Amino acid sequence: MPEKMPEIEIPSKETKIRCPQCQIQKIIEIPGYIFSQKSSGIIKIQFRAGQICEHDFMAFVDQNGAVRGYDKIDFQLEFNAQTAAEYAAGQKLHLETLLESVGDFAVMNIFHAYMFDYPIYVILRPTDNPRFADQLNDLLLGLFPPELNTKQIIQSLNHQAYLRLDVKESEYLVLDISGIILNSPWGEKKKFEYEHELLKKALEIVDPTIQALQVRNEIAYFQKKAEFLLSYLETVKHTDEDDLKNKMSREFRTKVTDALFDLYLLFIKRRLPEKETLLKKIHLHTVDQLKAALW
Ligand SMILES: [Zn+2]
Repeated sequence: MPEKMPEIEIPSKETKIRCPQCQIQKIIEIPGYIFSQKSSGIIKIQFRAGQICEHDFMAFVDQNGAVRGYDKIDFQLEFNAQTAAEYAAGQKLHLETLLESVGDFAVMNIFHAYMFDYPIYVILRPTDNPRFADQLNDLLLGLFPPELNTKQIIQSLNHQAYLRLDVKESEYLVLDISGIILNSPWGEKKKFEYEHELLKKALEIVDPTIQALQVRNEIAYFQKKAEFLLSYLETVKHTDEDDLKNKMSREFRTKVTDALFDLYLLFIKRRLPEKETLLKKIHLHTVDQLKAALW
């Protein structure tokens, strides 16, 4: 049942945004309810070419509406604008229409959250499409392999419900329908290399069925690697992080980078918690370095 409570409109806040590349400035309005959430921290807003200037960049805005920093965007997901326009009229959400409405940064956050099983909340105004969260769920269910058994982790919230949420203590991704990231369990500077690569390849395919198949296969392959890592750990007493990376690189004939390795560990912690103790067998260099620094 949709909530019928009238929303009290909190006045929006004006913030001066300056492009980190060309210095063009513009005053933008940020919805006021965002700043009434007492437990939230820095919000992340992606500005796309045409909004402030010709550049794409990120702005990090604090709870007073002041900009704390900017970041250039070194990812750019290309997609067929015509395909997006054709899909926009339909009832179904496609990857292209999602990118068009929330932007690449938000899409990568959503993919990361979905893949590693963090609940996702989408804040909707009374005027927003009330079915957005369901449509997003349908899209992601179709893109992720069924073996992952992901439950419906995307929910919509109205402003009042968002204000009651304790985001500080949580591991949620919270975003609004325009793609503003209100809360995420990972740091500001997260790069999303894996998600970017996954989406880039998917967007090269126009047919949505083949596109979904491609994403499902990629993620299933990722899962297979995480499972390989676990089954190897079951056979040894302990192992060195670098040896393990080399072993996996040889087995799957692609280099396991530090970032990827961390993702396999995260996948195991979040999705296979009953196996997490096996990870203690790995000598992690970061931990050793930390120990060395302490001694
Ligand atoms: Zn600019």
